[in-house]
Amino acid sequence: MNDDAEIPGSIIRAACWLCGAEDRDAFLGPRARRLERCRRCGLLFRSVGDLCGDSSIEPDVVSARLPLHRALLREIEAQSRPPGRLLDVGCGAGDFLVLARDRGWEVEGVESGGRAADRARARGLKIVHGALGEARLPERSFDVVTLWEVLDWMETPLSDLGKIARLLKGGGALFLRVRNGPVHVALWKLGRRLSLKALGDLAVVHRHGFSARTLRRTLERAGFERVRVSNSRLAPGAAYYRRLSRASRTAAELARLGWTVLTGALRVLSAGRILAGASLVARCRKPDPRPGRDAP
Ligand SMILES: [Zn+2]
Repeated sequence: MNDDAEIPGSIIRAACWLCGAEDRDAFLGPRARRLERCRRCGLLFRSVGDLCGDSSIEPDVVSARLPLHRALLREIEAQSRPPGRLLDVGCGAGDFLVLARDRGWEVEGVESGGRAADRARARGLKIVHGALGEARLPERSFDVVTLWEVLDWMETPLSDLGKIARLLKGGGALFLRVRNGPVHVALWKLGRRLSLKALGDLAVVHRHGFSARTLRRTLERAGFERVRVSNSRLAPGAAYYRRLSRASRTAAELARLGWTVLTGALRVLSAGRILAGASLVARCRKPDPRPGRDAP
């Protein structure tokens, strides 16, 4: 059975915002929702109407990500030490900002969800409630911007990344984590082929699905430099496991561990060219116009 043939002969004519190509293949992806894939660059798209059934991130998902966020903060601090100004875009209830504040960063967040923004404010955090594009924040004022699990939700990623670049100081760093879109599509297909629903249910593609290659290209097109993309470590104990039975949860956890070992081997054997982790982490910098500041 060829899953790509679920929507027979479907070729969509719509310009890809990343590469400009006009042909996309349509097929069924995770949660049996319709996806499109740019024939030239491979970027994945999901139609907006299909997004309505997605809920916002639940608090226990965020708390499950705390060990991951601590590790990401350590990586940020290996490059850029506090004190400094750090902005988290899509900050939710501010869990990452609290971690960063406790380490000495001067933090601020942008959050479009009203309840999450209120929870973050109740923790004493400075939060702009609304979309990034409408947020009135001083340009060239942040040392670090973080974007955890947000880029694939953005309606206009290039425009939003351009805004982030304007908010960063010259030489400032952007760190982001995003789902690896093609890997999630592959997981979903594997789950269907093996009749392992729990495996397929782990797969998610939001508005856009990035691979390491399309992610790198997106960041470079937005004007960032020194882009490095790697497999992300897994966030342990994801809360959507609640929906699974105990046996399914165990099977899903084993599958995730097996996937981690496999992706690590692929990365090593391909000398870093094949990044098949379930999520990707990217780091990049805004060019620094000051003389002598562009050395690696
Ligand atoms: Zn494209």
